[in-house]
Amino acid sequence: MNTKYSTRFAPPFETVEALKAHQLAGLRWTVAHAYQNGPAYRQKLDAAGIRPEDIRSLDDLRRLPFTTAEDIREGYPFPLRCVPFERIVRIHSSSGTTGKRKNLCYTRKDVDDWTHFFARAYEMAGVTAEDRVQIAVGYGVWTAGMGFQLGCEKLGAMALPVGPGNVDMQCQFLVDCQSTVLCCTASMGLLMADEVQKRGIANRIHLKKVIYGSERASVSMRKKISEQLGGVELFDIPGMTELYGPGTGIECTDHDCIHYWADYYILEIVDPQTLEPLPDGEWGEMIVTTLCKEAVPLIRYRTRDITRIIPGACTCGTILPRHSRIKGRTDDMFKFRAVNIYPATIDQIISGISGLGSEYQIHLYQDESDRGVMKIVVEMADNAELSLGERLAKELIYQVKRKVLVTPIAEVVPYGTLPRSERKSKRVFDTRIQDAIV
Ligand code: ZN
Repeated sequence: MNTKYSTRFAPPFETVEALKAHQLAGLRWTVAHAYQNGPAYRQKLDAAGIRPEDIRSLDDLRRLPFTTAEDIREGYPFPLRCVPFERIVRIHSSSGTTGKRKNLCYTRKDVDDWTHFFARAYEMAGVTAEDRVQIAVGYGVWTAGMGFQLGCEKLGAMALPVGPGNVDMQCQFLVDCQSTVLCCTASMGLLMADEVQKRGIANRIHLKKVIYGSERASVSMRKKISEQLGGVELFDIPGMTELYGPGTGIECTDHDCIHYWADYYILEIVDPQTLEPLPDGEWGEMIVTTLCKEAVPLIRYRTRDITRIIPGACTCGTILPRHSRIKGRTDDMFKFRAVNIYPATIDQIISGISGLGSEYQIHLYQDESDRGVMKIVVEMADNAELSLGERLAKELIYQVKRKVLVTPIAEVVPYGTLPRSERKSKRVFDTRIQDAIV
């Protein structure tokens, strides 16, 4: 394959046709395996009137029933398990904002597959055995730490498993060990960028890349992290516990969005309301079907993530397809005056106004006359004139009105006013009266 990076962990396919044949074989294996060995899946497939032998082409994917987060919660503590316990070598778990946590089982092969494609993610980001990878994400039952760690070791780079938070230790490792790659959330990246500036250690660190995941980052946030850390290159890495964990794709060095591992799973985009498949290029809910996952295969799993497939080939030369950065989740979309609004849209507007910083909050509440109010509190850029505040607020109101068709209140505050988080920053605060559940 004629690509810009080494391809030790790349899929062994030269053509899209070969990839599709591999996908069909994997789909057929998955449906047969789930039907034979997973009672929950068998029930679903029987209810839909589908037998494994009905899957003859990739188009037959559409006939399969969806799997949801509720299916995973319902089966707690070992949901959708399709192998006997003696084949399970590990459990991971995701926090889940409501109700039971999501536990997922892994076989030896599942762990090996994940490690392999995580190494591929590093490889595609141009990380090599020469690199020193400071891993500033959570270790433990979460998938993040383990994934970044094993992938890094598989690639042969030096892992520095510092874990999340602990800014003093992060800075010490950056300076003393000369880490070249930092893996973290976008919020942590921003926090580190600020900290490196504050401590005046920018010229004593040697960072080249920041690989960030589990959270959206606006264009201005990316720009700021890059600038303050000496021009580092940023790579968005997607993933979720249900689908092995982080590392299910990555931005390539051409930064034209995210390549995903189509040899491990099929990605579809559907309209989240009608569940009808959408054509390439259109935004919708990401649906994933695994091709070789043993302990907990996924059949048309509704991820709730909003993205789109980017048509055509990337300039980097790989045949692996692309999706856009995750725009939000179907469940973090909020409704204001009958308009569906994604925080990512507000991100984009703020990023496009020079003088505004990357940090903002959206507050939704009722005023004295019970009218819904959307208030955007946004920081100025750190070098912006304080006297410009009023003009920037006016510009923001104008742009939101023009692009989202609702009129917000805007409050522009000095740089550094809003809280920084080591984890995901909370953006939307909705205190409007919620209808009682009857
Ligand atoms: Zn590419």
